[in-house]
Amino acid sequence: MDTHEDTESATTAESDRGDVKACPSALCVEGALLLGVMTESGRLAYVQPPTRVDAEFVARAHARGRPEARFRFSMPCIEAGCPQWTGDGCGVADKLVEEEPGATSTRLPACTIRRTCRWFAQHGASACAVCPTVVADVGGSETYSSPQARSADS
Ligand code: SF4
Repeated sequence: MDTHEDTESATTAESDRGDVKACPSALCVEGALLLGVMTESGRLAYVQPPTRVDAEFVARAHARGRPEARFRFSMPCIEAGCPQWTGDGCGVADKLVEEEPGATSTRLPACTIRRTCRWFAQHGASACAVCPTVVADVGGSETYSSPQARSADS
């Protein structure tokens, strides 16, 4: 696994590539940044600084089930290459903020990708207010869930 210096310089290098945004809910693949770990309380514990995962981490995480349901990862946003892309933004971010329109937070999560985060770019602090409660799974926006969506399902 990379050192913190390596991670910080990699993060900076990614953000310095023009206006490339960072997806805050990417798949668990080698080279992704581990952004956070979902806790039993249902809130994401943000990793400081995000740590780049290697092939061994990915293999171990997949061996224990769907890693995207237990962790959050970040990778550069691929825009139209992603099925969540609406044409001018991330549909997941829109859906999450729409589900919880009143979500506000006086303190934004201590998150190091904010400068380039796709969700923050689209919805600002409203995205950060709901972000710590979001878990992602594989299979599209139907599998993303916030607390409101989870209670509606039960
Ligand atoms: S929405 Fe906010 S808290 Fe979540 S990853 Fe983006 S900048 Fe960080």
